[in-house]
Amino acid sequence: MAKLEIRQFPCLSDNYGVLIHDKETGATASIDAPEASAVKAALAETGWSLSHILVTHHHIDHTGGIEELKGETGCEVVGPKSEADKVPGIDVKLAEGDTYTFGSFEARVLDVGGHTTGHIAYHLPEAKVAFVGDALFALGCGRVFEGTAEMMWASLDKLRNLPPDTTIYCGHEYTLSNAEFAITIEPENQALQARVEEIKALREKGEPTIPTTIARELETNPFLRPSSGDIRSRLGMEQAEDWQVFAEIRRRKDAA
Ligand code: ZN
Ligand code: FE
Repeated sequence: MAKLEIRQFPCLSDNYGVLIHDKETGATASIDAPEASAVKAALAETGWSLSHILVTHHHIDHTGGIEELKGETGCEVVGPKSEADKVPGIDVKLAEGDTYTFGSFEARVLDVGGHTTGHIAYHLPEAKVAFVGDALFALGCGRVFEGTAEMMWASLDKLRNLPPDTTIYCGHEYTLSNAEFAITIEPENQALQARVEEIKALREKGEPTIPTTIARELETNPFLRPSSGDIRSRLGMEQAEDWQVFAEIRRRKDAA
């Protein structure tokens, strides 16, 4: 079975860049392009040559490096169809249900709108990995800038239903502040309590808390847990719909 090699590196103030490499074909993709210089440094370290950029959404901290990288490598730029006008140099436009062949892997495209309305995620089932941009974070989720809470919940619900052993790469290291918030929403969650300590220790050493997995997020991320009885009673929302509980958690995080 083909193996996907992955290199994650910090860039800008709190973004992560990610390179994925298919040894069999030599194909190498940058997941988003937050910063051209950081992507080029990672390429130099790995010795991989860039063939693709897989864009999750149009925000500048995910697209700012595209023009320079495409100009220098001629790589193929792949991104969300409904945000194509905001993704410089886009060659391939994808939407929910599309599949895209990267080297010997198949990437399945999920519409995860909400943070931006056209936001997409790339799920590579064979590699058991998904690249989710700013839709889902470790212990958090993206702010709902363009879509509605209901739309965002539908997107998170989609991600929540990926196989639990799926490894998740996301766009930012926000985990410590997410953890401090999460514990106020579900203080009795023992898995969350343990994870908060783990995250503090990692960040004190300057180490990344990403990637995560769907299984870990299901256990500890309040944004994926609106059906938790403890969360519902704490919020006084026993009878509400999941999306409404989600919306209240998101509102509280925005106000925190
Ligand atoms: Zn964003
Ligand atoms: Fe971002």
